Amino acid sequence: MSQPTRQIGHLIGGQIVTGQTNLDSVNPSDLSDIVATAPIGTAGDVDAAVSAARQAQPAWASASPEVRADVLDKASQILAARAGEIGPLLSREEGKTKAEGMGETMRAARIMRYFAGEALRLHGQTLPSTRPGLRASTRREAVGVFGLITPWNFPIAIPVWKAAPALAFGNAVVLKPSEYTPLLVAILGDVLTEAGMPEGVFNIVYGTGEAGAALVNHKDIDGISFTGSQMTGEAIAQAAAGQQKRAQMEMGGKNPLVVLDDADLDIAVACALDGAFFSTGQRCTASSRLIVTSGIHDAFVEALASKVEALKVGDALAEGTQIGPVINQAQFDKVSSYEAVAQSDGAKLAAAGQPPSSDTGYYIAPRLYTGITPDMRINREEIFGPVAGIQKVDNVDEAFAAANDTEMGLSAGIATTSLTHAERFQSEAQAGMVMVNLPTAGVDYHVPFGGWKSSSFGPKEQAFAAQDFYTRSKTSYVRA
Ligand code: NAD
Repeated sequence: MSQPTRQIGHLIGGQIVTGQTNLDSVNPSDLSDIVATAPIGTAGDVDAAVSAARQAQPAWASASPEVRADVLDKASQILAARAGEIGPLLSREEGKTKAEGMGETMRAARIMRYFAGEALRLHGQTLPSTRPGLRASTRREAVGVFGLITPWNFPIAIPVWKAAPALAFGNAVVLKPSEYTPLLVAILGDVLTEAGMPEGVFNIVYGTGEAGAALVNHKDIDGISFTGSQMTGEAIAQAAAGQQKRAQMEMGGKNPLVVLDDADLDIAVACALDGAFFSTGQRCTASSRLIVTSGIHDAFVEALASKVEALKVGDALAEGTQIGPVINQAQFDKVSSYEAVAQSDGAKLAAAGQPPSSDTGYYIAPRLYTGITPDMRINREEIFGPVAGIQKVDNVDEAFAAANDTEMGLSAGIATTSLTHAERFQSEAQAGMVMVNLPTAGVDYHVPFGGWKSSSFGPKEQAFAAQDFYTRSKTSYVRA
């Protein structure tokens, strides 16, 4: 039975606003299934949303923090209660498996609940003054209106981990989600409206990079938080700097997983399988570079290859699927093109999974390569698909040097039973997040998230770190 297509409109000042032209979002597991139709936002739509946000923000900021906490808490409860319905819609639109779709929805609910509490925890400091009779103190206040620009690969968790702290601390928001996954953000809009969000505080403008650029360049936006590709993030950071706007960019990754001779083989293989292939490799924290010392190399390749060959690729919502499709034709073409690139670079195919025989979606067989050398393109470029390569190294020093041999620095992992090597890796890894005996992907929602080097720009996201970006500090001196 065909599933309904949702007609989406922008959410501007509490009103649903339709557009002149629309874009369909398509189920990547079944290209005949149109999941949603959303308007292509214009600079005029962005302008209307920013002015609604600007108008609504002062009252929201001056409301009791309990008011903001209550709305976010209610939204968390609604999301959690509807997870059984929203999770499968996420899988239908984005292509991750049913368990991953449910997991992401629950994560969004928990992030919302966390920031409901954070609304009450904004605190400052008092300091003794060097001048008699004076008191000095600092406090944190809302910044104003934030533009949030999000990618398709975590279509509800990323919008929530940007919007929830912005809202908790008294800011208003205009969110521009990925054109490939509008449905989940439309649902988020419904949930926040039902939870009692005042009109104009949370706005959504759908569309392409054109709407995103209009948001970045709007004179009444105080800050931009972006997650997406390197190229787009760099351009936004430059534009924001020229306008003295706050800017926070979370971009690509080419994350290493180091496997040392002393590793527990089962743990190492499980970390690599999850980190490189789950969520179809479409995670910024995916470990596409497996750096393995020579003593364990052959056993590791053999064990991982047999797991990769057994991975079940298929419809995101089908029982037993472990690897869903990639998101769209562009990703399908890009990821597929690396097969020829790997071959011409001289990498050796060690294992390939089986895509489903029916060709209804953007299915790609997971692929594992060996014989990787540092300069190969598959070792340097973010592929963002179920593809990983193994680089064999002679010793720990070489392994650590290889791990850091990248312009990116989001997450870095190590499999080892040596406390000494684990400690050394934690201090030497040039990455914003380090995982020991864990996949490079997979993080807690109450812990700061973000990378180093060209993976990220600006303060970290989530948890207590979010205050740094979504509030500004004021210093007061008082003569008593
Ligand atoms: P993308 O850069 O193509 O798009 C991201 C968002 O930016 C979309 O909403 C898009 O419409 C918008 N956009 C495009 N051009 C724009 C412009 N000129 N001005 C303003 N907005 C513009 O990225 P994507 O393909 O949606 O996402 C995949 C990328 O996201 C990967 O590189 C991945 O590593 C990265 N990512 C990073 C993190 C992280 O936290 N570091 C998390 C998830 C995804």
